Order: sequence, then structure tokens, then C-alpha cells
Amino acid sequence: MGDNVSKRFKLMSSADAEMEERSFPNPYPDWDQGSSSGSDGNHSEVLDAEGTLSASFQRKVQSKIKDLLQQMEEGLKTADPHDFSTYTGWTGIALLYLQLYRVSHEASHLQRALDYVKRAMRILNGRKVTFLCGDAGPLAVGAVVHHKLNNSADSKDCLSRLIQLQRSVLSPDAEMPDELLYGRAGYLYSLLYINKEIGANTVDEDTITKVVTAIMESGKNMSAEQKKTDRCPLLYEWHKKQYIGAAHGLAGIYYMLMQPEAQVHPDLLSEIVRPCIDYVRSKKFRSGNFPSSLSNESDRLVHWCHGAAGVVHMLLMAHKVFKEEKYLKEAAECAEVIWQRGLLRKGYSICHGTAGNGYAFLSLYKLTQEKKYLYRACKFAEWCLDYGTHGCRIPDRPYSLFEGMAGTIHYLSEMAQPEASCFPAFEL
Ligand SMILES: [Zn+2]
Repeated sequence: MGDNVSKRFKLMSSADAEMEERSFPNPYPDWDQGSSSGSDGNHSEVLDAEGTLSASFQRKVQSKIKDLLQQMEEGLKTADPHDFSTYTGWTGIALLYLQLYRVSHEASHLQRALDYVKRAMRILNGRKVTFLCGDAGPLAVGAVVHHKLNNSADSKDCLSRLIQLQRSVLSPDAEMPDELLYGRAGYLYSLLYINKEIGANTVDEDTITKVVTAIMESGKNMSAEQKKTDRCPLLYEWHKKQYIGAAHGLAGIYYMLMQPEAQVHPDLLSEIVRPCIDYVRSKKFRSGNFPSSLSNESDRLVHWCHGAAGVVHMLLMAHKVFKEEKYLKEAAECAEVIWQRGLLRKGYSICHGTAGNGYAFLSLYKLTQEKKYLYRACKFAEWCLDYGTHGCRIPDRPYSLFEGMAGTIHYLSEMAQPEASCFPAFEL
């Protein structure tokens, strides 16, 4: 078998071989505009004649969610008891149950969310400030869960502790990064999440503006240091590298700054953020994918954390804010790459797996209403229905929200209401 594989690889270009190593060839026919319905249409299994999700597909998804939830609960018995994070720990599980409550209105899911977030809040360590990896995640999710349960005193307590974290975020001498996973943008997300879930101005405008200003100042300083003020007025690095992707890089930071709730003045968006977006666009590969960092020339990763599947969200937001077609056109190019190379050997996760890539199609569908994107999102969900059968790598935290099964369940649960989908800890 080894021989056959090596022969086959020699016949391919090295780029093809590289691609094959990272992703499975997409076995599905693409959306065929011509056959919008009918029994021989290639999409008849997932979409019905009206172009909505078929009842049989919905049933399969719902039954898989039940099955995976059971596996996840069992698996979590051996998970790291000290990991409270949204990314790989208890808050991520709480967030999944909050999502299941949102789509099903079953009170038991809200209760589970409470149990898990309480468990997280007992073990906070005051080391990091972001939604994904720091104390802000459990505090923000705690505030929202308590709010939904009408525990207003508990909700307010979480909220005031969340707001107190701003001190270290705003402190200029701190070694605080700006990216989403560990930096200021990840704290900003927590504040915006509160205002979306509990109500506008729950976190006051002044606090949000201070955090936004700190992010912008930090980016201006780095840009001046690197003499890039004209081309890219806000520049950021993490661990001495200028990453581009959603998790550690520019796309994730610009995406947060463009959120309407961040209330960056339209003139500032136009004069300072827009050239940055265009700078990232200038780094696009011919394939439509994006590099993982400004210094990286190889067209390899197509994940939410690195590459097109994260950058696409920045482009869609730029289209909403600046109303220019070029952003939407390039977002559509991202979707082509994701369709070709998005069924990842790394697994089914939302950070660097098939489910996270599926969210790109959902976001394009929400914006354009094009059935092609709904169909593709369903096909990536269909792939996830065969969880564990493709021979993917097993992640370190196999049941977690961002690396593992909880994220896949989160993605599958979006199929109940695709027009209301929301990439957790990222989309607002
Ligand atoms: Zn990742």
C-alpha cells in the first residue's frame, strides 16, 4: 500500500500532493443551478424542491446530534478538569448548550449551560482576558446564562467582574497582544457579545470605545515601527509574526473593529481600517486562499484559524460596511477554495476542521441568500454525519468546542435554522 501511495504522489505536482495531504478530495457534486429541483437533481437529498433543507436530511442531522452529544458527555468524564476555557474547556461546552437552547427552547439545555459555566467560574485563574482562552469567556457566558434564567444579581456580578478585566487590557505597558485568542480583540468580543445577548448598552459605550482605542493605538504603533503607515495603518503581530488569519491575525482584529457595536466612527473605518483590509487582499493567492502570515508564501492552510475560511468573514463584513462588490467577489473566491479543499484531514472541528469551514458557506448564504451556499453548507454537514469514519487525526481535546466534537455538534445544530447561524465566539 505504501508503494502505491508513493507512486501516486510522484505523479502529482508537489502542490497537489500537499493539498491531498491536508484535505480529502471533495466527493460531492457541486450545486447545479440548472436542476433546481426534481428527483435527479444532485441536491435533492439535502435540499427539497423549494430549496430548503429536506425533512429526511433534518432527521439525520437531529439524530446525529443526539448521538454525538451522548458520546461527548461520556468523553468529557476524562477531560482536563482545570480547563475552564471556551476554546477547549468547560465554557465551550456551556456555549454549546446555550446554542442548543437557542434552537430548541428546551429548558434542560439552559440548565446544562448553567452547570458547565459554574464549573468554569470556580476555577478562573486571572491569567488571560479573552473570550476564547481567558476569564472573560466564562464571565460573559455566565452573565448571559444567569440573565436568561432571570438571576439578575448573579448576572450583574459576572458582568462587573468582566468589566474589571479592562484594566489589564487598557494598560499600555502590559505585554498584551491584540489578536482574538489571547489579545485585546478577544476581550472586545466579550463586551460585544454581552450587548448582543443581554441588550444594547449593557456594557456602556465608553468602555467599548476605550478598548477599541487601545487596539487601534497598538496597531498604529506597530505600523509606524514597520514603516507601513501608508499601506497598512494598523499592523499587529503575535509571537513576533504578523499573522493574517482569524484566530491570531489581522483578519480577526479588523473583523471585530468593523462590528457595528464596536462603534468605530465611519470616517475612521474608511480612512484607517479600509486600507488595512485592502492590504490583506493584496496578499491573496491566485487560488483565492490567503497566507497564514505576511511572511508566509505557501498556499497550504484552509482553516478558520489560518486561511480563507477565516478571512472570508472579514471580507463579508467589509462588504457590509463599505458596500463594495470587490469584497463580496473575493469572499466568493474564498468559498470556492473552501469547497475544493475544505474537507480537512485534521478533523471536524470549528477551528481547523470541516465544521469551521462550513460556517463560511453559512455566512455567505446569510448575506447573499444564494442556495449554492446553503447546499454546500449542508454537504459539509453531511460529511460531519460520518464523524470519525474518514481516518482524520484525533485532536488533543477531542470533545471540546474549538478542537473537537462540541464544535461539530454546534455546526450541525445550525442546520435547524441556517439563516440564524453564528460562528461561536466570533460572529455576532
Ligand atoms: Zn485552528
